[in-house]
Amino acid sequence: MPAPYSGGCQCGAVRYEITSEPTGLTVCHCTDCQRQSASAFGMSLRVPTASVRFTKGTPKTFSFAGDSGRPKVGAFCPDCGTRLYHILAPTAPSTTIKAGTLDNPSAFKPVVHIWTRSKQPWVPIPDGMLQYEKGAPDQAVVDKAWAERKP
Ligand SMILES: [Zn+2]
Ligand SMILES: [Zn+2]
Repeated sequence: MPAPYSGGCQCGAVRYEITSEPTGLTVCHCTDCQRQSASAFGMSLRVPTASVRFTKGTPKTFSFAGDSGRPKVGAFCPDCGTRLYHILAPTAPSTTIKAGTLDNPSAFKPVVHIWTRSKQPWVPIPDGMLQYEKGAPDQAVVDKAWAERKP
């Protein structure tokens, strides 16, 4: 199913639409994603920032430094607190949508697992999947896997 893709927070106060194709989907096992998701890992769907449109409500944002040390902005629903996206700076060209907030969370499959050094030991990673102890050292390798992925 091609773009647009829609999604929103748990309470429905914030809704968004992505009007172009995503450029990657990463599973992140860093300790920040574990805390932020209140679960075992985070899922980041990379999309062009210009393609994200909020159709209902306005997310609230806050800044933090992730495991990588880079400052990031996290955006969440002001009513229910669901994390909706991360961005490196308000003007960065890409945004990472929290993929579990998509109306169809099965629309995309990840091609890479990162920060596996803090992965929960009971989470298996499928054979043949790109995986890195920290962040991906070569984004071109990850981009290639995304471009060549099977549906
Ligand atoms: Zn909400
Ligand atoms: Zn992470």
